[in-house]
Amino acid sequence: MTSSWQMLAGNLAVVALFVLAWAHARFWLRGVPGAVRAALFGLCMGMGAVSTMLMSAEVTPGRFLDLRLSLVAVSAFFGGPLAGLITLLMSLTYRAIMGGAGALPAMATMIVVAFMGLGFRFLVSGRTITVWHALGLGVATAMASTVSAVLQQTANPQNLVPLAVLNTIAIMLASVIFLHARRFAAEHDLLAAALAQSPDYNYIKDRNGRFAAVNERVARLHGFSDPGEMIGKSDFDITTPERAEALFAAEQSLIERREPQVEFEEALVDETGNERWFATAKVPLHSANGEMIGIAGVTRDITADRQLQQDLIDSRNTLSYALAEMSDGLAMFDRQGNIILCNEQYSASFPYTSHLRRAGANLRDVLQEVVKTGEQLNVPAGQERAWMDQILANLHRETEEEVNLFDGRWLQLRTRPTSEGKTLVVVTDVTRLKTTELALHSAADQLKHLVRTDGLTGLLNRRAFDEVMETEIARSARAALPMSLLLIDVDRFKAYNDEYGHPAGDEALKLVARHLRGALKRPADAAARYGGEEFAAILPDTDEDGAYLVAEAFRRSLAEAKLPHRGSERRFLTASVGVATYMQDNLHRSAAELIQTADEALYSAKAAGRDRVFGTRVAGNQRKYGTLSR
Ligand code: GH3
Ligand code: MG
Ligand code: MG
Repeated sequence: MTSSWQMLAGNLAVVALFVLAWAHARFWLRGVPGAVRAALFGLCMGMGAVSTMLMSAEVTPGRFLDLRLSLVAVSAFFGGPLAGLITLLMSLTYRAIMGGAGALPAMATMIVVAFMGLGFRFLVSGRTITVWHALGLGVATAMASTVSAVLQQTANPQNLVPLAVLNTIAIMLASVIFLHARRFAAEHDLLAAALAQSPDYNYIKDRNGRFAAVNERVARLHGFSDPGEMIGKSDFDITTPERAEALFAAEQSLIERREPQVEFEEALVDETGNERWFATAKVPLHSANGEMIGIAGVTRDITADRQLQQDLIDSRNTLSYALAEMSDGLAMFDRQGNIILCNEQYSASFPYTSHLRRAGANLRDVLQEVVKTGEQLNVPAGQERAWMDQILANLHRETEEEVNLFDGRWLQLRTRPTSEGKTLVVVTDVTRLKTTELALHSAADQLKHLVRTDGLTGLLNRRAFDEVMETEIARSARAALPMSLLLIDVDRFKAYNDEYGHPAGDEALKLVARHLRGALKRPADAAARYGGEEFAAILPDTDEDGAYLVAEAFRRSLAEAKLPHRGSERRFLTASVGVATYMQDNLHRSAAELIQTADEALYSAKAAGRDRVFGTRVAGNQRKYGTLSR
């Protein structure tokens, strides 16, 4: 009885030996194709099964007791049909050679167990194998062996318990070892892949600076085709002695100080001969008991980052140079009206608020100071708040504005919103341009005035008279209003010149102009020098009675001035006036007709003895003459 436990325990050791042997071998066979590996597994398990049979006990003649079934089951379960078949065939063959009465039932049991292994494999396919599956297989195998022994009525009942228990234990043991080996290999593969495929340069060195592991990038960088070729080499084998010495000293110091080195940056020449920048971090490694065993390093290629950084610095320098050197002031505002950046010219353009116009300041605060100090002249009094709101609102619109400063300077402010919601303001001093523009404007105005004015009297000249005439004729016809024209001729003026001389004549004409201007009371009335010593007055919205009153007022005021004129019947300077009127019912009007009618009236006034007013109403083609002198 004791011997069956003992013997089966020896069997268990054999099972464990082969299982461990496979677990170890399997790690080195990771690269081998699956079918070959399955065949080798089947072979290994088969050898194990045969070994257990070699150590089996012959319970009764021709009947043997051992743990071969556990290996047949494990082979089919973990290795699949091929492995299971190979193990089964080896076991069957050996059992057949052993012969005896129990050979056939024993071989049948082996076949059943092999199928059970495959069945369990099928049941767990697609799921992770756990020890519970192994336990199930163990129990099933134990039952199979028990049933077989009972059916053959050979096994001693005292043998059945150890047989069942140890078969189950053997299967459980094998499963735990295989599962562990599998997980270990998977983790190892994952770590190895992570290291090998990392875009960084990863390496591990031992205490003496020799490479213990490097990834593919490191190997390639140093001209090796396989990372394995670098194992055992040190920096002295791959770089200049000076650099190797420096690296070694630095690493030894890290190890001694037990401190990691963080992000050390340096420029190196890569395998293609280009300069590249690298950032290296190194960590000293210690074993579980605290002993320093080496160093792990990660080096990243930061050439692109460095380039980007350099580009940024370059463009920032260029920008600040441009900002400092440009003649215009420039400021950038954010959405809230805060100054993000501005140049010195911008601040200096505004003498009273330059101290406020700095990065970080808000435009509203600046504008409040502008209002307080009176820096700008265009701020509408009493509406300062609205003015500020308007400027802040305009900040996000494309605008152009000219502001006049207290010191007489003119600044042009151009506002350009950017796509990111910011705003660029460019300030240009346009004082010279503005002064020239203003001067030009006033010169043009003056010229316009001169072109329309009579030089001697300051009244409208003939040209302006013609223009006003046309305009007023058209306007009065449109509005169906009356309109009158006075034509004035100084009496006996030739004689006046002869008597007092031409310059005195000019003075007399100025006097006439003054009296004519004095007689016109409405702003719309226009007095003109018609030519020589002839004058005209255009009287819009004035009927014949009104026109007569104006004409008579003029005539009388001139006469009452009593400017001596010996050559005239009256003995002082007088003038005759011809009046022509379009009444409101006559809308068919022409300047020429009105002038001609007034001229004829004037002629009549002269003929009637001068110093009087004659008037005529234009009525269709009919012309009615008559004195209005009363
Ligand atoms: P009448 O009463 O019929 O109008 O007699 P009159 O001598 O005024 O005759 P007329 O109107 O033909 O005279 C025009 C004169 O006015 C001619 C010229 O000597 C004088 N005269 C015209 N223009 C000027 C001027 O600009 N300055 C001066 N001093 N005399 C002028
Ligand atoms: Mg005349
Ligand atoms: Mg005259």
